[in-house]
Amino acid sequence: MSTPVPVSNETVAQLCPACGLCCNGVLFGDVELRRGDDAKLLTSVGLELFRKGSRQAFTQPCACFDGKLCRIYADRPKRCATFECGLLKRVQDGEMKPALALRKIAETRRQADRVLQLLRSLGDVNETLPLNKRYAAVSAQPIDLSADKAEVERRGELMLAVAKLMELLERDFLK
Ligand code: SF4
Ligand code: SF4
Repeated sequence: MSTPVPVSNETVAQLCPACGLCCNGVLFGDVELRRGDDAKLLTSVGLELFRKGSRQAFTQPCACFDGKLCRIYADRPKRCATFECGLLKRVQDGEMKPALALRKIAETRRQADRVLQLLRSLGDVNETLPLNKRYAAVSAQPIDLSADKAEVERRGELMLAVAKLMELLERDFLK
């Protein structure tokens, strides 16, 4: 078996500033620390750690994400430093052109924006929570079929938009 080639900084520089989906709460709800991560340093740069089972973790959207880049790139936790999404790997391996990967990123970001827009229109405005928690909170609200027809329709649109987003994430980023 051949040794996998680590993703190069060049590939990261090509794709990641246009994406951010692994830092902004769309792909992941939280990030667990690993042995060797400096919890003190991470707290000092603004990450709020919480206990998740036997590990410490921080929630996403990450407080160190500036909308395009990681503010603590050199000191980022190990889980972040070793994560490579499917698109990165495929571009690195020459299986996909960067231009196509960028189109897929743009498509997925549009879909994530659509989901966020629907969540806000349904009253969820907590931008500090990851998308999965926000969707769960809205879905847990009982549906009043006698309510505003537009709201009932938006709930249906939200379900479809989330299903489409999950499909894109599974297909392009998690495999
Ligand atoms: S999901 Fe992939 S392309 Fe997007 S920022 Fe993360 S590593 Fe980069
Ligand atoms: S520490 Fe950096 S790489 Fe890790 S989730 Fe936050 S912004 Fe992303």
